[in-house]
Amino acid sequence: MTESKKTPQGQKKLTAKERMGIERVEMPQRDGKKRSRDFKEVNLGLGELAAVREAQRCLQCKTARCVEGCPVGIDIPGFIRRIAEGDFLGAAAILRKDNNLPAVTGRVCPQETQCEVKCVRCKTDAPVAIGWLERFVADYEVEHRSGRPKVSAERKGKKVACIGSGPAGITCAGQLAKAGYDVTVFEAFHKPGGVLVYGIPEFRMPNRVVADEIENVKSLGVKIETNVIVGRTVTIEQLMGEEGFDAVFIAVGAGLPSFMNVPGENFKGVYSANEYLTRSNLMEAYDARSDTPIIRGRQVCVIGGGNTAMDAVRTSKRLGAEQSIIVYRRAREQMPARAEEVHHAEEEDIRFEFLTTPVEVLGSDKGWVRGLRCIRMRLGEPDESGRRRPIPVEGSEFEMECDLVIVAIGTKANPLLTKSTDGLGLNKWGYIEVDDNMMTSIPGVFAGGDIVRGSATVILAMGDGKQAAASIDRYLAGKRDL
Ligand code: FAD
Ligand code: SF4
Repeated sequence: MTESKKTPQGQKKLTAKERMGIERVEMPQRDGKKRSRDFKEVNLGLGELAAVREAQRCLQCKTARCVEGCPVGIDIPGFIRRIAEGDFLGAAAILRKDNNLPAVTGRVCPQETQCEVKCVRCKTDAPVAIGWLERFVADYEVEHRSGRPKVSAERKGKKVACIGSGPAGITCAGQLAKAGYDVTVFEAFHKPGGVLVYGIPEFRMPNRVVADEIENVKSLGVKIETNVIVGRTVTIEQLMGEEGFDAVFIAVGAGLPSFMNVPGENFKGVYSANEYLTRSNLMEAYDARSDTPIIRGRQVCVIGGGNTAMDAVRTSKRLGAEQSIIVYRRAREQMPARAEEVHHAEEEDIRFEFLTTPVEVLGSDKGWVRGLRCIRMRLGEPDESGRRRPIPVEGSEFEMECDLVIVAIGTKANPLLTKSTDGLGLNKWGYIEVDDNMMTSIPGVFAGGDIVRGSATVILAMGDGKQAAASIDRYLAGKRDL
């Protein structure tokens, strides 16, 4: 057996056998019952000792399969090695090379289906907790950095507009500012951050984390203009004409809610998850001091099984519901939500009605929701999504009492900007079509994130923002072969 040595920072260097003997760390978290009544963050984050110990579990594989699973190719063994050596700021520098928002992705990335599922340690015990280590490093950096990032690149004298301030728009803006462009982000809401501020609740993604990342982008010189709806306040033609922008990146997300199209969906007390979460998060109804109106509900049914459904149902409990229920047409194994969120919801006493779908919303004479008529489902053959198709079980209809229904069955492209832009190529679902360089059918106009992919993930939106920035840079440098 090789002898244990010391690393440059004084941490003990372990042998492979010693590494294999370390058990995966547990994430410290707040008690399920207590936390389900407030909006403070659920996961508390790893401490320094726990992070170093977890980092020591990494085997520093020569062919690191975890990196193959990361959509932006972070040097995972590289940053973990720095943690194991006690060099946390060095780890942060490695992370930031490929990931502009590590404090965000460390909290919301579905690691269990991306990097961690590929980790070689899955074969023997449990994967290295890559996501929790990422969050640890990002939070450490915020506390210990010497200042915010600054731009050193020579000014290019060219202007780029990013439309939308979600992960795609913010990433693209930051990359272009670093390359010396004069960048303005236009955002429809009064606060930047996209889904990170209007969708994902405080208990999972604290506002201060997003606000800090936005400050980093501003310190690179990016201007952010809020309350500007491109397509209504100003058009892309005007931006590229009278406003003098040389290129545009469209990153407006896909925030138009889908509904079930069942009778009774217009009763008072039916929200789209999008509206409900926006009222609670962005409009701050979660804060008892806010005067934003929101229907709280005593018995709340949330329809859907994705991250949005989990966020809505857990929010309803925190807003005072006695019982909050997920109504999902498939089984637990098919839920698209992150495993950690489902687990947290279970700990918070959320009730799950699997293999169930509403066929009617029931209302009172005064027009308020009083319940749902549902039907039980069974699973048939896989459909185009690869998941087993839910099939109604004849004669299984039943009623459930509730006074608030939140529909979280997905979102689509909002046509406001796309329809007001002549010549913009769209696919049959209304999403923007782009070429391999993320350029749309209009020269100089690029697009990425959910408005191109359909509802996806934060890290994929960030990856698009980065790729688009590189393409815009080449385009504006006059390189024909993008
Ligand atoms: P968005 O984040 O949607 O940002 C688009 C921005 O553009 C918005 O701020 C919008 O106001 C603005 N905008 C729209 N139209 C205009 C216009 N005409 N003019 C100006 N501005 C405009 N992903 C994960 O990886 N992990 C998770 O845990 C997770 N949880 C989620 C929970 C919820 C509730 C939701 C809704 C999504 C979740 N997602 C999660 C998905 C993820 O948030 C999105 O894939 C990602 O935010 C897409 O980024 P984007 O930049 O393309 O768009
Ligand atoms: Fe470390 Fe797992 Fe990646 Fe190997 S696959 S380098 S053990 S995180």
